[in-house]
Amino acid sequence: MSDPNDAHGVVRPRTAVLTRGFDPTLSVGSARPAVFRSSTYVFPSPEEAEHAFAITTGKIQMEDGGRADLIYSRFSHPNAEILEDQIVPLDAGGSYAAVFNSGMAAIMTACFAYARPDSTMVYTTPLYGGTTGLIHRFLKPLGVTGIPVASGQTGAIEEAIRAAKNCCIVFLETPANPTMIMTDIERAAAAAARHPDRPVVMVDNTFLGPTFQHPLLLGAHLTLYSATKYLSGYSDMLGGVAITESSAMIQKIRGVRSMFGNIMQPDECWMLDGRLSTVALRMNRQSKNAQRIAEALHGHKLLSRVIYPTLFTDPEQKRIFEKQCDFPGGMFSIEFQGGKEAAFEFLRHVRIARNAVSLGGVESLTCHPKSTTHSGMSPQELEESGVTDGLVRISVGVEDWRDLLADFEQALAAVAAR
Ligand SMILES: *Cc1c(COP(=O)(O)O)cnc(C)c1O
Repeated sequence: MSDPNDAHGVVRPRTAVLTRGFDPTLSVGSARPAVFRSSTYVFPSPEEAEHAFAITTGKIQMEDGGRADLIYSRFSHPNAEILEDQIVPLDAGGSYAAVFNSGMAAIMTACFAYARPDSTMVYTTPLYGGTTGLIHRFLKPLGVTGIPVASGQTGAIEEAIRAAKNCCIVFLETPANPTMIMTDIERAAAAAARHPDRPVVMVDNTFLGPTFQHPLLLGAHLTLYSATKYLSGYSDMLGGVAITESSAMIQKIRGVRSMFGNIMQPDECWMLDGRLSTVALRMNRQSKNAQRIAEALHGHKLLSRVIYPTLFTDPEQKRIFEKQCDFPGGMFSIEFQGGKEAAFEFLRHVRIARNAVSLGGVESLTCHPKSTTHSGMSPQELEESGVTDGLVRISVGVEDWRDLLADFEQALAAVAAR
């Protein structure tokens, strides 16, 4: 079988995503992978069954990056293997992936793989609500004390990591949702590398990755994704991905996944697999659209703020954005001077973008974080993370940006005319 990765040396990521990991001869010659929905796999001999189990249970060491024979689909299955091989080149610096049936499944599995009793976990705030819940409601009772530190505060994050006792995980989410506050991954990872406990540095890269932000090149050990968002891109499936450079780390995480039983199912793997080659195309278009719209709305008389990386004024935030991100991305937030009433009036009048949570799809979505996605936060947390009454979050899709802008402008005019 001719493998373009061998024939032409190492190809670039956008090529590799179409050429790696899938051998048509294993799918009766079909150009796209077949979907293998079997729950169990037949062994050619009892000896091979014994060998496969010896590898899976860790009695025999597998070579780096090697794959155990297929046994049972909760451990792995062909569509997961194809997807895991194909997705890796999208995340610069990554060598191995594990796929899950949601973003939270990926985050939970990674945290449980590295959490240990009587330890601490440093994390940036605000975090995705599900991740915050995981830390408070599951990890804390198991003896993992969360140490929150405000996103973007480079010095304070370094100090929190330095001072953390028995630290097992440093968990960063950047940019923060919905305020786009950025955290310096490289500085946090360097602080973790100086810590005697060598905590695992995990980055939830859902907002700007894998196209515009590359944590593994900045010293992070693991990137985590809600594939429900940009990776799948059509708001029609749930998925999660963990990517790392370390074969030991991926084996550990896949082992925990086998216990939890949260591997991505074959049909979902097949769907996501087909979307990979357009992730960069979609994200580039979404970022260009968002930039044009955010910059056009900047300074509007009804808005106290338009929050978007190219409009940052804080020097530290500008520095992190310029150093860490290739493009500003497809998300922005606007803040109404007229508070919740004005924000709701705006949402009632927007016609093209739909009022829904989630993000990253080809269709634009808007939401009011304080009353929805962030409603679980305490008044103090809301205040600290800048989630105000007037804030509206917008996930920009691939529509024509001029139509979106005109629509937002007519909705703003409707708010002004109240
Ligand atoms: C949506 C999201 C998650 C959770 O992903 P699911 O696929 O919904 O489980 C985690 N982190 C971020 C930043 C998200 O936006």
